[in-house]
Formats: sequence, structure tokens, C-alpha cells
Amino acid sequence: MDLIQKGWFSEVSNMWPGQAFSLQIKQILFQGKSDYQDILIVETTNHGRALILDGIIQCTEFDEFPYQEMITFLPLCAHPRPEKVLIVGGGDGGVAREVAKHPFVKSFTQVEIDALVIEKSKEFLPFMAKGFDSKKLTLVVGDGFEFMKKHLKEFDVIITDSSDPVGPAVNLFTESYFELLKNALKPNGIVCSQAGTPWTDLKQVQATIGNCKKHFPSVKYAVTSVPTYPNGQIGYLVASLSSTMDLTKPNLQFNPKELKDMGLRYYNSPIHEASFVLPTCFDDALFN
Ligand code: SAM
Repeated sequence: MDLIQKGWFSEVSNMWPGQAFSLQIKQILFQGKSDYQDILIVETTNHGRALILDGIIQCTEFDEFPYQEMITFLPLCAHPRPEKVLIVGGGDGGVAREVAKHPFVKSFTQVEIDALVIEKSKEFLPFMAKGFDSKKLTLVVGDGFEFMKKHLKEFDVIITDSSDPVGPAVNLFTESYFELLKNALKPNGIVCSQAGTPWTDLKQVQATIGNCKKHFPSVKYAVTSVPTYPNGQIGYLVASLSSTMDLTKPNLQFNPKELKDMGLRYYNSPIHEASFVLPTCFDDALFN
């Protein structure tokens, strides 16, 4: 099916049957196929530039910041001293941009499977890809699942900024992946993974939380608002190896000036706590 018709891109997928979000397109900036996926980068009429992989919107210039800030600062601020961080996925560079801002982070590694996503993000999406310029970053092109097998007790925080659980990202939602994450973390380490929204795929979110719970004593789920994601919402699975750590409370709290100096427009301490408050129907479905 041609995803762009009469100047509109529509995000049609079996993951959200019977509905499709559309963006009006001004120009196609890049369209190609890597070893892993179809890559489309467009200029939209009202949402700036957008990255679309295998027909699924990954981020738009308009609203990428809530996603990147929350997936990064929820785990980094919940951890007492996040000095060494790993990012899995995140080929647009947006999470690297955010991790580089945190004052405690001494070094971070990013493992992205698709070199072409990195190359084209640098060319067309510099507002996110500037994250790759950080001197603290070691960038590895490879499969996050395979990478994890060779790294034991190394990281304070691991952020999985993956695409949805189809194509190359399918392994990043499994029980074996959470076992690898557990082994790659230092004691008291924290993970944060992109985990969809219960509005479109409750069963997938339940399965991911169940897989995580088999290896992590403390598992939480937070949500945030991203208008161009399905139903305008995305969830994050946040889990710790410590059963006593309260993930919902930030250990490090930034004041308004610090937030401004870091260029944070969405994340703050009250929203950290609020993002874990779920409506009764989802709390029941996910945790009871
Ligand atoms: N914010 C986005 C979202 O939730 O839709 C995700 C953005 S980022 C572009 C997702 C990245 O994960 C892609 O660049 C993709 O190539 C990468 N990825 C998928 N599977 C991977 C794997 N097994 N190892 C490493 N990176 C992977």
C-alpha cells in the first residue's frame, strides 16, 4: 500500500487496527531501504521534519522532545548516581542529546543496529542528531540484544529507545532481553524501555511488563503525551534491580533555572511523579 496519497502520509498498521494518524507532507527528503527497514524522512506542513521507519512514525520535530526527555530523565533522575549509561536503538540521536545533558553522566555508549538511520538523521534531522557530537559518547553499530550478551555489570542505567516490537526490535521486548539487561546492570541499576500504550495494544504492554517482572523486583510503567504517536500517548517501562528504590520519586531534582539551562521543556520533578499515576482501568490491567 502506498503510504503517501494526495500529499498525506497515513500510519496504517495492524498494531492499531481501524485507525490511522496522518501528516500532511510538504516534501520527501529521503526515501530508501537499509538492511533492516524502509527509511522515510519528510518535511511536513505543520510538524517540521519526521522520521518514519517501516511506515511507523518514530519522531517529528514538533513533539520529539517529550518522548526523548522522559525516556532519559525518568531513569537518570531516579538513580542516585548514573555515571555510566547505555542506549539501545535511538538512531535519530535524540536520546543521546538528552543523556549528554545530565550532570552525573561521565560516559555513555549507544548501540544502534542501522547505520543508515544514523547517517540520514545526521544529514536531515540535526536537531536530534546533534546528540552524536557528545564527547562522552561511544557509538556502536550493532544489535542491542547481541551487544548485551558481552557486557556484564557495566551500566548504571540502560535506556532502550527501540522501534515498535516488529522487525529488528522484536527481541527487545522479550524475557531473554530483560535477563540480559539485568546482567548488564551494576547493582541497583535501572532500565527504561519504550513500551507502547495500553490504548492500542494492552496485551503487548502486559506481556512486556510480565517479561520484565521475571527478572526485576521493582517494575513500574509511566506514560507521557506525544501527539503524533498512536492515541497521542507513549508508555515507558521503568524497572530497578533494587526492591527498595522508589522509581516514581526523582533522586536528583532540578530547579527551574537548571531545567532551562539544560533546555528541558517537558521534564520536571512534578511530572516525573505524575507520569507514574495511571487511570484505574490501566492500573488494574497492568498491575493487578
Ligand atoms: N522514538 C521512537 C519510537 O518509539 O518510535 C524510536 C526511535 S529510534 C529511531 C528506534 C531505533 O531502534 C531505530 O533506529 C532502529 O534501527 C533501532 N533498533 C531496532 N531494533 C534494534 C536492535 N535490535 N538493536 C539496536 N537498535 C535497534
